[in-house]
Amino acid sequence: MSASLAMSTPFYCGCETEPESDGLISVDAALRRGLSLARPVQEVECLPLDQAHGRVLAKAVRSGVVLPHFDNSAMDGYAIRLADLAGEGPWRLPVAGRVAAGDTGDEPLPRGAALRIFTGAPIPPGCDAVVMQEMTQLQGRVVQIDRRPEPGENIRRAGEDLIAGTELLSAGRRIGPRAAMLLASAGCGEVVVRRRIKVAFFSTGSELRSPGRPLARGQIWNANRYHLAGSLALPWVEQRDLGNVPDEPNFLLQALKQAARDADIVVTTGGVSVGDEDHMPAMLHAAGGRAHAMKVAIKPGKPLVIGCIGGAIYLGLPGNPVSAFVTWRVIGARIAEALAGISDAAPRRIIVRAGFERSRRPGRCEFLPARLSDYDGRGTRAANIASAAVSHRVALLAGADGLLLIPAEMERISRGDMLEFLPFWDE
Ligand code: AMP
Ligand code: MG
Repeated sequence: MSASLAMSTPFYCGCETEPESDGLISVDAALRRGLSLARPVQEVECLPLDQAHGRVLAKAVRSGVVLPHFDNSAMDGYAIRLADLAGEGPWRLPVAGRVAAGDTGDEPLPRGAALRIFTGAPIPPGCDAVVMQEMTQLQGRVVQIDRRPEPGENIRRAGEDLIAGTELLSAGRRIGPRAAMLLASAGCGEVVVRRRIKVAFFSTGSELRSPGRPLARGQIWNANRYHLAGSLALPWVEQRDLGNVPDEPNFLLQALKQAARDADIVVTTGGVSVGDEDHMPAMLHAAGGRAHAMKVAIKPGKPLVIGCIGGAIYLGLPGNPVSAFVTWRVIGARIAEALAGISDAAPRRIIVRAGFERSRRPGRCEFLPARLSDYDGRGTRAANIASAAVSHRVALLAGADGLLLIPAEMERISRGDMLEFLPFWDE
């Protein structure tokens, strides 16, 4: 994402207007602030293609070849010369030989004859059409053709997919299955990719225990650690999981300093609100860091710190699990993508219709777990929410199809209103 694009384009519809009260900043302003801190990592590595899956191309790749490499058959059938089909059909041609995928295809097609040919085989000199097998009848060593084919029928021409010198893939493209297929087809055995970004993270909270361990009264199992580890299980990320840290300023400061050492981004959950046990903004300051945004007009997830610590970006997500999930997905993941140099990461969204009515207080943009109905007759789906108080509702989130976006200024949602929806299609 270029800086100018980041400055001018709204990321999420209805989240770009700057709220005026409460010292809140809009979701888009927070995202812009975060992105302005994110310089793509500069170090690159050269990897064999089979080890580069999901990595981020550091520079554009151009093709030195054409695709297809040579004229070849699109069908199993018979290679013929149209000039040999004189007068009205049907025509009968002797089958003079065969050419299969992997053959050189140097042998010319004899005049007045056909060659048996298979998909991917080179087109022999003299052949100007391939008749598909299903349109012929073979009688001994003679093939009967009932319909005159078009010139070039069933011939895949060299260069029709890609001409030499074309940019195959641009810098910043992730090497997903389609990109890998193209690189392989063009013979690229190695690619230059950016190094993985290093993401250090820990959960704060004296109440947290690891799942699988017994709980004393008042304690809970740490959910955020597992959500983050899952969200960061990406080919372009190197994770440093620093576990749980209790709400003790000394421990938090040490953990923050340790995390910032040699990380590109430090992510914490909890301790960023206004309670006495919310130490993270002070700890960020004590560790020599700086906060650039502290309150974002998003629901769930209002307390959110975006800042810097040492050479790393700092992201202090709220502790409530659904808030942490939403703020990571809407803001954190985008910053991580920018750090990794990813250029093709626009958030996936579709348009749905509200399946409910609701009045609300305007000011914060909501991202609510919602379920989708089947398609209606107009090609859209209706989204339904179970509740607008969702910050702790992990079961609701797990059962949702995605996040329904309610623009900050919207006061009333009427059934049938068109809204943006961020689907969970990848989970
Ligand atoms: P905090 O932002 O630290 O005030 O936490 C807000 C709420 O989220 C509290 O109910 C915490 O117990 C809960 N919480 C904080 N961190 C986690 C976590 N890692 N897993 C599950 N719940 C958490
Ligand atoms: Mg806490």
